[in-house]
Order: sequence, then structure tokens, then C-alpha cells
Amino acid sequence: RARAHGGGQVAFFEQSMGEHARSRYTLQRELRHAISDQQLELYLQPQLDADGRTVGFESLVRWHHPERGLVPPGAFIPLAEESDLIVEMDNWVLEESARTLARLARAGLAQGISVNLSPRHFSQPGFVDKIRTLIRRHGFAARRLTLEITEGLLLESLGAAQEKMATLRQDGVRFSIDDFGTGYSSLAYLKSLPIDELKIDQRFIRPLPGSEEDGALVDGIVSIARSLRFTVVAEGVETAGQRDYLKRYPGLLQQGYLHGRPMPAPQALLPLLEPLATTH
Ligand code: C2E
Ligand code: MG
Ligand code: MG
Ligand code: MG
Repeated sequence: RARAHGGGQVAFFEQSMGEHARSRYTLQRELRHAISDQQLELYLQPQLDADGRTVGFESLVRWHHPERGLVPPGAFIPLAEESDLIVEMDNWVLEESARTLARLARAGLAQGISVNLSPRHFSQPGFVDKIRTLIRRHGFAARRLTLEITEGLLLESLGAAQEKMATLRQDGVRFSIDDFGTGYSSLAYLKSLPIDELKIDQRFIRPLPGSEEDGALVDGIVSIARSLRFTVVAEGVETAGQRDYLKRYPGLLQQGYLHGRPMPAPQALLPLLEPLATTH
């Protein structure tokens, strides 16, 4: 089709394709190094209960690129997801999160950590053993670890993934559906899934409290989740108006810039660990 526009355009088209491919390739190669060169950093964002207490954190990875600076996940997760590179990266995040959970446990703190997992893990042989070994090696209660997955996974490889989830869930590991409401979710499948939590996507939270429609959707999700005994997390809480509106749902957890931005792990843990240090 490009050829119909003449030779010059074809050359231009091919050249820009080449550059595009080259930069993707470069970025992927650099990302591989990032893991071994310790350019990744674990950030944590707090999750709060209705009384404003921090009950847990979500692990969000950051990449300190030697020339580009801090690269946001949106710029490299999709690239990493094209190959098993994402599995390597998530393994690093799992390891760091497990170390943090062990630290919290040693300090007598009960906060949990949620880790985002690419669907690719579920097709890896040894996935279940990897998670079990991680928990045993670091020595924390399995229920402190939540694995966040997206609806896409459940539709792609429903059977195989569900079996692995169910096995880990028997150990106490929790499963959460991230960005809930943005996929092709059928409500029918919710009742049979081995999950513990739904995270309402920020696009439903952002228009609150002004939008009756979004209010109705959130209301529906919360009431379904409640009858199925799932925890619900509202993502992307940015304003006091949203926070106060959501207080009508007693068990609901909130996560968002209003309560705390994702921060380097030591900084995020400081409000919890510092009071312990000063009382002794
Ligand atoms: P997510 O899992 O849905 O994470 C929530 C995203 O929303 C994070 O973006 C977080 O920084 C952002 N966020 C939190 N509160 C607010 C708010 O009040 N307002 C707005 N506008 N945004 C808020 P982030 O850190 O850029 O991560 C983007 C996505 O990248 C994540 O979405 C997740 O899908 C993926 N991701 C991040 N870390 C990892 C990881 O370690 N492994 C995998 N597989 N994916 C990851
Ligand atoms: Mg998430
Ligand atoms: Mg999300
Ligand atoms: Mg997401």
C-alpha cells in the first residue's frame, strides 16, 4: 500500500520502521541489563482502610535508566511483556517484595504487599513452586502476599491459571483482579474464580462524586463483591471529595495520590517503622 505513494515514501516508511525496531531492540537489551545492573527500584504505594490506616502496599517497579533517567512502567512493561523478560523482571519485584514482607513481619507489623504479575507466569513451569519457595525462604505468612492479575489472563488461559491460583490460595496467598471493569469481564465467571479481591479501575473513581453513572457502577461492583466476600480496593483516589464519597462503603480500601504516591520502599515504610524505633 505504501508503494502506491511512490518510491520516496517507501524508503521513508522502511527507514522509520527500522529505527522503531532498533529502538525497541535497544530498550529490550538495556532492560535485560537493568535487572542485573541493579537499575530497578521497588516503589510502594499505600492502601488505606476506612479509618485511614495503612493496611498494605502495592509494589510498583521503577527503572533508573543510565541516560534516560527514571522510566515509568508504561514505557517498558509493554516491551518486557513481549517476551519472558517480564517474568525475570517480576521475579525481581517478587524477591524485593518478599524481603520487605519479611522485614515487616520481624517488626511485628501486619501490612501486606500486592505484586503485579504478568499472565506469562502462569504458563511457566514451576510457577507454583517458585512462589512457595519464595514464601518459605523469606519466612512470612502467605496471606500477606497478594498477586494482582488482569482480567485478560483469566479469559486467555482460564483452566490452567485457575488451577495454579487455587493451589496457591490453599496456602493462603491472595489473588486480586486489577483494573476491574476495563476488560471483557463477564459477571458469571466471578463466582467461580479463586480470587479474594477486586480493584476498581481509576477511570470509575475519577469522575466521583460528580457522576451519577460512575457512582452507580461503583455501587454495583461493591455490592457484587460484598456478596461474593471479596475485598474491594478503589484505585486512583486523588481528591478529598472522592475519599469522602467512598466512605459510604465500610470495608472498602483506598489507594491513590491523595493518600500517598508510590515512593521508594524505605521511604514508604518509614511512617510504620519509625515509631517502633523511637519507642525503644
Ligand atoms: P496498576 O497495577 O493498575 O497500578 C496503578 C497505577 O496507577 C500505577 O502506575 C500508580 O502509580 C498509578 N496511580 C496510583 N494512584 C494514582 C492516582 O491517584 N492517580 C493516578 N493518575 N494514577 C495513580 P505505574 O506505577 O506507572 O504503573 C503502571 C502499570 O504498570 C501498573 O498499573 C501495572 O499494570 C504495571 N506495573 C507496574 N509495576 C509492575 C510490575 O512490577 N510488574 C508488572 N507485571 N507490571 C507492573
Ligand atoms: Mg496493580
Ligand atoms: Mg490498576
Ligand atoms: Mg494495570
